[in-house]
Amino acid sequence: MTNAIPKRNTKTLGRLSPSDKKRLEKFLNYLEKEALLFMGYPCSEAYNYSELNALFSYSINNVGDPFQKSNYHLNTHHFEQEVIEYFKKLTTAPHKSWGYVTNGGTEGNLYGLYLAREYIGSDAVVYYSQDSHYSVIKNIRILNIKEQVIARQKNGEIDYDDLAEKILQNKSKKIIINANIGTTITGAIDQVSKIKKILRRLKINKYYIHADAAFFGMILPFLDKVPAFGFDTGIDSIAISGHKMIGSPLPCGIVLVRSKYMRSISSPIEYIGSIDDTITGSRNGITPMYLWYALRTTSHDDFCERVQSCFENADYTIAKLNALGLNAWRNTYSFIVVFDACAPKVLSKWQIAVSGNLAHLIPMPHITKTGIDHFIDEIKNT
Ligand SMILES: *Cc1c(COP(=O)(O)O)cnc(C)c1O
Repeated sequence: MTNAIPKRNTKTLGRLSPSDKKRLEKFLNYLEKEALLFMGYPCSEAYNYSELNALFSYSINNVGDPFQKSNYHLNTHHFEQEVIEYFKKLTTAPHKSWGYVTNGGTEGNLYGLYLAREYIGSDAVVYYSQDSHYSVIKNIRILNIKEQVIARQKNGEIDYDDLAEKILQNKSKKIIINANIGTTITGAIDQVSKIKKILRRLKINKYYIHADAAFFGMILPFLDKVPAFGFDTGIDSIAISGHKMIGSPLPCGIVLVRSKYMRSISSPIEYIGSIDDTITGSRNGITPMYLWYALRTTSHDDFCERVQSCFENADYTIAKLNALGLNAWRNTYSFIVVFDACAPKVLSKWQIAVSGNLAHLIPMPHITKTGIDHFIDEIKNT
């Protein structure tokens, strides 16, 4: 009888052919080039997680509730818990709140609206502004809830008068509100305090407010004198993306909710030895490690500095575009540079998103003034 420690069989099924290897190499070169021209989306490329690469040798899976024990031991729940605790502080979440690391802002929005529907009832109406992210509209369809689109002001912020009017017009007073904490196109903020004032004035007592803070949830906490958006304003849930301001090679995000809304949706599952209270079954266990790594290696002051330099680069870009005679601007708490769409070839080369006649450049932390100068030169020369 031998009692040798068993070894894991890690034999792969085969190896890449020389031509496939070449193809992969070519693709990596392409990525390296395109990564330099990445100016239109709010995803930071300023990170280095190579210390975590060893994690990729394990079938890590965070299935189930990150705060419960699980039969699936290859998980990163303890790190995920720390990430959630960090975001709880950042959003002034009450002690009785809960959350998990999602696949991104979209899943967080789906989760928030799901709990809202379970709490308010399926005959609720979701009010959201015209400038809401497309994921909000999709999630409302998935959840089969009624919807009411609200007009927006010129800067992209929800039109509060229209919101009040539409609530009055609706016979059903079962209300769910999606507040945009930073719209995708112009970075406008729907002010929760103003929304609450309307609800009070109209004597609406039962409602649910979900905050879509996919991008700005990691910007506003690092600025002075910004509109409040956290749980202290009375929101019920919030979604924040992880791959945007923090940056991550794999999309991710967090969702936080008040615990009381969890009761109706949590069910213990014998098979995983845990509670099934997330949207998906199997969940990414690597992404919580990226977030944990970023939060352990970046201080509050570091984040403030990072955010500040993005604002500086935004103002730099605006001045340069204005000097070319182009209309360019940003909202007060946003470093999304909005400008009149022009030179389509240049915009597409720099991966700049266009919506109607508006384009936007987002000087994320990986973008330098030299990069901006290159872009401006190309605009000038077309
Ligand atoms: C990016 C974004 C989303 C979607 O987030 P994903 O992480 O891409 O799923 C939702 N809402 C807003 C306001 C966003 O900016």
